[in-house]
Parts: sequence; C-alpha cells; structure tokens
Amino acid sequence: MKLESFWTDTTPAFEGRTDALPAKADVVVVGGGFTGLSAARTLALRGASVVVLEAGAVAAEASGRNGGHVNNGLAVDYATVAARVGPERAAAWYRAYDDAVDTVERIVREEAIQCDFHRRGKLKLASRPAHYDALVMGFERLRREADPQVELISPQRIRDEISCDRFAGGLLFKKSAQMHMGQFGRGLAEAAARRGAQIYDHTQVERLERLHGHAHRVHTRRGAIDADQVLLATGATRLGAYSSFSFWRRRIVPIGSFIIVTEPLDPNALQALLPQRRTYTTTDTLHNYFRITPDHRLVFGGRARFALSSPRSDAKSGEVLREQLVAMFPQLRDVRIDYCWGGIVDMTQDRLPHAGEKDGLFYSMGYSGHGTQMSVHMGECMARVLAGDVAANPWRDNPWPAIPGHFGPPWFLPAVGLYYQVKNKFA
Ligand SMILES: Cc1cc2nc3c(=O)[nH]c(=O)nc-3n(C[C@H](O)[C@H](O)[C@H](O)COP(=O)(O)OP(=O)(O)OC[C@H]3O[C@@H](n4cnc5c(N)ncnc54)[C@H](O)[C@@H]3O)c2cc1C
Repeated sequence: MKLESFWTDTTPAFEGRTDALPAKADVVVVGGGFTGLSAARTLALRGASVVVLEAGAVAAEASGRNGGHVNNGLAVDYATVAARVGPERAAAWYRAYDDAVDTVERIVREEAIQCDFHRRGKLKLASRPAHYDALVMGFERLRREADPQVELISPQRIRDEISCDRFAGGLLFKKSAQMHMGQFGRGLAEAAARRGAQIYDHTQVERLERLHGHAHRVHTRRGAIDADQVLLATGATRLGAYSSFSFWRRRIVPIGSFIIVTEPLDPNALQALLPQRRTYTTTDTLHNYFRITPDHRLVFGGRARFALSSPRSDAKSGEVLREQLVAMFPQLRDVRIDYCWGGIVDMTQDRLPHAGEKDGLFYSMGYSGHGTQMSVHMGECMARVLAGDVAANPWRDNPWPAIPGHFGPPWFLPAVGLYYQVKNKFA
C-alpha cells in the first residue's frame, strides 16, 4: 500500500521554474493550489505580470489530496444558512457553487485538460430513517429557493442507486461532477504557465513586508519580490500553515481528513454496487465520501480520526476507513487497498469560504472540505477583485470573526473529536 495520493501518484508532477525570482511583479500569488493557479491563469490572461510562489510541489496539498468530488450545494445544510443570513443570500451562496462547477467545466474545455471530468450527480445518503425525514423536510424549500434540479430518492428507490441495506433514502444533486484531481491540477498549472504566469515551486514565502497601499515586498529564501498586489491562496496545509499570517491562523482550523483507494475492481461487481457512478456522501456526523475512478477503483474517505495528517496518522486512519468500507460493502471484505493518505482541510467556524482584503492583502480560503470547485472559481473571482471589481466576490458580505481561544495549532481537536464521536453514535 502506498502512503501517498492516488491522484498525484498517477500524474507526472508539474515542474516549476528554476531561474532567479524576478525583482518585481504586478501580482504575487502565495500558494500554488487550485485557488492560486486559477487566479494566476486569469490574471495572466488579463495581461498582468504574475508570480506564483508555492512552498512545496504544485497542486499537491489539499488540491492534490482530496476525494475527487466536484459537488454543487453548500457544505452546510441550506436551511441552517438561510436561518442565519436570510433566504436571498443563502440562495446566492448556494448558486455560487453551481457557478463554481461550471467554472471548472469551462476551464477543462478551454484548456483541453484531460482529467475525466463528468457530471454524474452527487447522492447524499441518509444513514438513518430520521436523517431521511430531515432530508424530506428540507427538500421542498431547497428546490423552491435554490436548486430546481435537486431530487429526493425514496427508500423504495435507494436500492437502485447503491447495493447496501443501510441507507434510508437520499437526496440527489444533479449538477455535481467528478474528475481526476492530479490531471486537473497539472493541466491548470500548465495553462497558467502557458498564459504567462511564472510558477516557482519549493519556494516558501517567509515574510510579507508592507510597502504602501497594496504593495508588499515578498520575502523567500530565494530572494524577495516587490509586488503591487499579493493574493494569499495558502489553504491550511502542512507547509507554512502556522508560520506567517496570524489573522488567518486565528480563523482557520486545520483538520485532518483521510482516504483509501482499493485495487481496480471487477467492473461488473461495481456495476451491481454503485451503478450510477456518482459521488456519494453519507449524512453521519462523521460522514464518509466515496466514488469510483475510471480504472474501477473505489476511493473512500472520511474523518476517520481527529488528528492531523502524518504518515503514522494516515496509516491508522486507513485501518479505520477499511473497517467502515467493509461495514458498508461486505462484498469488498477481501479487496486490496493500494493507496492511503491524509490531507488537511481548511475548516472555518461557519463552514463557508472567506475571501476579501485585509490590511492590503487579498485572500481566499476556508473552503471547509468543499473546495475543489470553489477554489478554482474563487481564483477567477479574486483576479477580478484585484482589478477593482469587489462585487465579483460572492463571499464579500460574510463576516469572519476570530475563533475564541484559537491561535494556530488546534489544541482542542481531541475534545472536539470525542464530542463528534458520541454525537455520531446517537444522532
Ligand atoms: C483529504 C481531503 C479531501 C477533500 N475532498 C474534497 C472533495 O472531494 N471535494 C471538494 O470539493 N473538496 C475536497 N477537499 C477540499 C479541497 O481539496 C480544497 O478546498 C481545495 O483544494 C483548496 O485549494 P487551495 O488552493 O485553496 O488550497 P491548497 O490546495 O491547500 O493550496 C494551498 C497551497 O499554498 C501553499 N502554501 C501555504 N503556505 C505557503 C507559504 N507560506 N508560501 C508558499 N506557499 C504556501 C501550500 O503548500 C499549498 O500548496 C478535500 C480536502 C482534503 C484535505
């Protein structure tokens, strides 16, 4: 079993530039994940000189370590968000995810990226009858206010979708898609570079020195760049996550999420198991998410443990995930697990993205485990914000207070984990 991401292991890595950093740039983008690469592509297309500085390998953190889902819909229950901010804003935020899936699809087409992008829908599986009742209660309102295509899958029909007795029904989000994240990440980086963005990997930003207004001197071990504008697209990753940027450190909780991938399975057996090949999530508090790859592997993830990702933690989580997989599909008892890895999710308190400007720095992050589409979309939106179009940012009116008692390292995770494990058993 390989303790690395299936997506990046099955794609040749994008190689950044090796020449000296330029002394000046219109924009420096800190972070070479989907947010940073997408912003860099758009900025370069608009004629800006843009430099991407990535601490590690390009698109190899959350963007290369996720579950491969490109789902529409909010990460939180629509009614909960509507109760907090009103139906108009909740529906606008919901539709921002539709736009985000469209943005990914458009870039895949415009740049001819071969990444198996397919819209097959996402099925949210009710793990208990009470969870199905909750889906039914929210369904009409969601359909009326935000998503006319959403469809309820009744208990009678759920067995047409999944060969498992455990689920009491489901909710189908038809606009959702899936793709190969390694191939998309590499394709996006190549597209940004082709359009003129200068991408440097293994170049961590260590300090930002404000010169005036939006202008900053960006310090790295390879030298410094003076930039008229800086976009922070740093996620919440192992590299640089706690180092420099204190405002964001107090608002993002880094949480581990883990994934296993099986050996290629018999296509006929898979056809019986999950005939529609959608993306799937369960309604459990500690939910699982899964899908099938084009080469017939099952990618199965979840918050198996409340720990950050490390080789030891990933391997332990892999064992927990395997048990969960076999509990759901006893038919897969004897399959070999070929890959197991973890990644760090940039969780926010309201589980919504946050983007804007703070002290002369632009930023977009906090996608809370639901960001393969929104990061790409926000890269484009923030390129427009940098050009003065503040209204291009769908999250501009979402306040972002610091989390009380949180200063960076998530010391409270074990206690939170215990709470969620108890809740998961009974709710
Ligand atoms: C295990 C897991 C499963 C997930 N599954 C899904 C899913 O199925 N569907 C979905 O929609 N979302 C999923 N997500 C979330 C999604 O992958 C992310 O929201 C998205 O990729 C975020 O992109 P990003 O560019 O903002 O961040 P990242 O991809 O994390 O990129 C940020 C980059 O910034 C770099 N960086 C940080 N600090 C510095 C610094 N000081 N100097 C230079 N560079 C720096 C990092 O090295 C990193 O490469 C998952 C996430 C994880 C971890």
